[in-house]
Amino acid sequence: MEKTDVVVVGSGPTGLLLAAELALAGVDVVVLDKLPERPVQAKALNLQPRTAEVLDLRGLLDDAHQRAIATVTEGHFARLPVPLSYDGWSARRPYQVGIPQARVEELLEERVVGHGIRVRYGHELVGLAQDEAGVTATVRGPDGDERTLRAAYLAACDGGRSTVRKLLEVPFPGTEPRAFGIVADVVLSQGSEGVPTQWTSTAKLFAGKAPAGRVTALIPLDEPGHYQLFTIGPDIRPESRDAPVTKAELEVALQASYGEEAEIAEVRQATRFTDASRQVEQYRVGRVLLAGDAAHIHLLAGAQGMNLGIQDAMNLGWKLAAEVRGRAPEGLLDTYHAERHPVAAEVLENTQAQGVFMFAKEDPGVDALRGLFTKLLAQPEVNRYLAGRISGFGIRYPMDDAGASHELLGARMPDVRLVDGRWASELLRTGRGVLLTAEPAFTDAARPWADRVDAVRVPEIPLTGEAADALLIRPDGYVCWTAPAPAKGLETALTNWFGAPA
Ligand SMILES: Cc1cc2nc3c(=O)[nH]c(=O)nc-3n(C[C@H](O)[C@H](O)[C@H](O)COP(=O)(O)OP(=O)(O)OC[C@H]3O[C@@H](n4cnc5c(N)ncnc54)[C@H](O)[C@@H]3O)c2cc1C
Repeated sequence: MEKTDVVVVGSGPTGLLLAAELALAGVDVVVLDKLPERPVQAKALNLQPRTAEVLDLRGLLDDAHQRAIATVTEGHFARLPVPLSYDGWSARRPYQVGIPQARVEELLEERVVGHGIRVRYGHELVGLAQDEAGVTATVRGPDGDERTLRAAYLAACDGGRSTVRKLLEVPFPGTEPRAFGIVADVVLSQGSEGVPTQWTSTAKLFAGKAPAGRVTALIPLDEPGHYQLFTIGPDIRPESRDAPVTKAELEVALQASYGEEAEIAEVRQATRFTDASRQVEQYRVGRVLLAGDAAHIHLLAGAQGMNLGIQDAMNLGWKLAAEVRGRAPEGLLDTYHAERHPVAAEVLENTQAQGVFMFAKEDPGVDALRGLFTKLLAQPEVNRYLAGRISGFGIRYPMDDAGASHELLGARMPDVRLVDGRWASELLRTGRGVLLTAEPAFTDAARPWADRVDAVRVPEIPLTGEAADALLIRPDGYVCWTAPAPAKGLETALTNWFGAPA
């Protein structure tokens, strides 16, 4: 029987980043995908600002920029007329990167291959058993033969219809679809008034003329005439979620919103989706961890799904690696569920709320709510809060003494420029923890963790908000200790997050 440390099931963005993170930490990984090759299907088109920062931590963002088609400088909430502003979040890059999911997967797969791991396409997980010591996976290969793989842990990154979830009989509670949608990669033969030619604000891509209750958008891709056509509403009623999409139904949707002169010359791919909203109750089931769409699905409003999955992987990777390598402190792996479950629950909440605005048909109550929400969005505090939630900038993980101390405790480390010219993000390229300190005493105290944490001495930490003498930053870019610290010392924080001293 073949043995490995971790089996990653699914080579979507979640599985690929997780595999790259595990490999970076020296863990042996097998990545399986049942598809014969990487799909080119039109799906997500954006990296939210925090996801872009997360990729930057590992030096992947420049590459993403090179493959991108747009820079999107503002967000939206339910297409309301006041945009979400990224100002006020101390961001070096206050924008979304417009890039097709297939290209994100391509660059992540290149990173995985760079670590010497080849994605095993055509390999489907069909069986799963776990015991106290590990997991046994049954895998059907391209020749139809079944083989078993033994690993310490298995990560279910196998998407919304997760096989792992079904094999484990893990419930996926939530709401049934109320609206059906289609997303298609199309080439238009001719445009019409209102067909966008540029993408700088997603809210401006939605058709103003769409029938009530229907949301339609055209997102320009990188060739002239090439678009992602997106349409969703309670009036779309396919026979099944897998019913083939016809060119005629796409053209009806297009013309209802953009006029009869808009015509489709070619449909390259098309797929159906729904607004079903579901989340598993536990992200960890013994030695199996669920991440990405396998753990949560929701309406596409605000374009957050792929972003959640990438950030799940970043949160899980270093913790699972520490566990596999036998140096994780007690309870570290369980912080994955504790930290990430509430983040996705908030996304389910905000997307369901956006759905009410998006699909309402001539409802005076919803119109009143829309008016009120628009006024609220014009309030800087409210705007910042919602922008923080959808961009990911606002994530703050609960930490021991959060609230008692520094504003950055539990929050993302802003990508500040250090006196020596380096950006803070560059310090995290190796996937290790970082102690950024202006106090030599802290560098000495951290020496017994030098195999896991890089101590970086700086004359000062150039924060725009509350000052700090030292910050301990986790491999995923979140601050887990600050000095001066009222409640606990550096050694305790290092032990709690990185394990016992060497
Ligand atoms: C139409 C559409 C538009 C979207 N737009 C956006 C957007 O604008 N922004 C955004 O952030 N998100 C968007 N999303 C959501 C985003 O695509 C998903 O959240 C994202 O793909 C989740 O990534 P994942 O890696 O968790 O799962 P997936 O990408 O679904 O990958 C799962 C992988 O697991 C493999 N697999 C499944 N079962 C098995 C098995 N038994 N054995 C082996 N392999 C298996 C599958 O083949 C697949 O490759 C959109 C989704 C859709 C459908």
